[in-house]
Amino acid sequence: SAFEYAPAPESRAVVDIAPSYGLFIDGEFAEAAEGKVFKTVSPSTEEVLAEVAQAGEADVDRAVKAARKAFQKWSALPGAERAKYLFRIARIIQERSRELAVLETLDNGKPIRETRDADLPLVAAHFFYYAGWADKLGHAGFGTEPKPLGVAGQVIPWNFPLLMLAWKIAPALATGNTVVLKPAETTPLSALFFADVCRQAGLPRGVVNIVPGYGDAGAALVGHPDVNKVAFTGSTAVGKEIARTVAGTRKKLTLELGGKGANIVFDDAPIDQAVEGIVSGIFFNQGQVCCAGSRLLVQESVHDELLDSLKRRLGTLRLGDPLDKNTDIGAINSAEQLARITALAERGEAEGAERWSPACELPASGYWFAPTLFTNVSQAHTIARDEIFGPVLSVLTFRTPDEAVAKANNTPYGLSAGIWTEKGSRILAVANKLRAGVVWSNTFNKFDPTSPFGGYKESGFGREGGRHGLEAYLDV
Ligand code: NAD
Repeated sequence: SAFEYAPAPESRAVVDIAPSYGLFIDGEFAEAAEGKVFKTVSPSTEEVLAEVAQAGEADVDRAVKAARKAFQKWSALPGAERAKYLFRIARIIQERSRELAVLETLDNGKPIRETRDADLPLVAAHFFYYAGWADKLGHAGFGTEPKPLGVAGQVIPWNFPLLMLAWKIAPALATGNTVVLKPAETTPLSALFFADVCRQAGLPRGVVNIVPGYGDAGAALVGHPDVNKVAFTGSTAVGKEIARTVAGTRKKLTLELGGKGANIVFDDAPIDQAVEGIVSGIFFNQGQVCCAGSRLLVQESVHDELLDSLKRRLGTLRLGDPLDKNTDIGAINSAEQLARITALAERGEAEGAERWSPACELPASGYWFAPTLFTNVSQAHTIARDEIFGPVLSVLTFRTPDEAVAKANNTPYGLSAGIWTEKGSRILAVANKLRAGVVWSNTFNKFDPTSPFGGYKESGFGREGGRHGLEAYLDV
């Protein structure tokens, strides 16, 4: 069958997970002030991986104080010295990438092929890239001596735990800020291993602090009076709450929120290539990607041909053990996320869309959802409007380029879009009319640290990555 298992070549033995972890504050691992802990589980097996100290308000306060103290010296270092630490961190990440990839796959549930070939190389690339900026800030177009803001409070989600950490921490450190970062409650481990990377790199105490915990710890960090900059990636609902908290303070804020990306396929598109892009657009990381191509807009005349090819391709995807390097589809990150995806898919059926999945046996334990297609979807359907954040593709059709643009833009979000056509002039004309922060053409889900990334509308504001990513951490 298409879903056969092969023996796992990436053994979990390459990563040594301790039974318990502390918070990382001022260069030391420590218990939480109130002694609270929480468990992190492997979503593919429901096995408990470790117990982790749970930060509360007092711990966040301690971490912010450590970051404030470290800011004095860190911000005064010449950029070339800060660069050395960042280069060292990047090198250590490369050296430990197998260990970190397996760890990330265990804690998140995503296939090892993705953590090994996408997450980890991008994490290292991000640190290398921002290391290169640290001594050139005076030449970045922000004036001759742009100043760091101070302490950055950063809150990240569970879908790309280490990559989101890199997106936040690398530019903050390069620009001379110090950091308190709260990882998501379901994926705290790679951030704690990163703390160990910082120690290995000899990073001065307090420059990076990691405070695992729940939303209350995130709220305490965002609301802390001595935090100068807030960077958040996560849901639009929490992003709005954070914007309200920060309003009326002098904190600088960037928000990276949800999306409902459209992948637009014109009748002259190379169909096989488009099918690959559609598959990676929505099934990469089980669709738990803010910029996923979760809506397929296909020109009516090629709808049937494209859907036939797409269904054949979905029949070849392998779902199962994320540590198996042949696996395409891993586990959903948590029981809550699985319930949310399940409910939205049921809503799709109830509202009259046609549901299809390839023959697919789901493992008995863990959190799993089969790749799913919905056809006969109208713009009014919930599955065409709400972010599902799962392996569910909603297929809509269009006749003209203008109709494609109107439908693609008919969403409160504005993060990503894809255009598939052989006509270069059409790519430019359509891309210019799309209200999306990133537009790919004849590819999808390609990332590079040199490119700014971020949203329009309810997908947030501010940019991460590239030269623009520096601005969020500087007084210019
Ligand atoms: P979430 O917003 O519930 O949680 C994100 C983080 O915020 C977690 O660390 C969480 O503990 C913390 N948090 C929760 N409540 C908080 C509060 N009141 N104050 C401060 N912090 C709080 O989102 P999630 O379920 O973890 O992630 C999925 C969502 O994130 C999706 O909607 C997705 O679109 C979005 N996302 C966006 C991007 C992007 O770059 N735009 C990237 C990844 C994920």
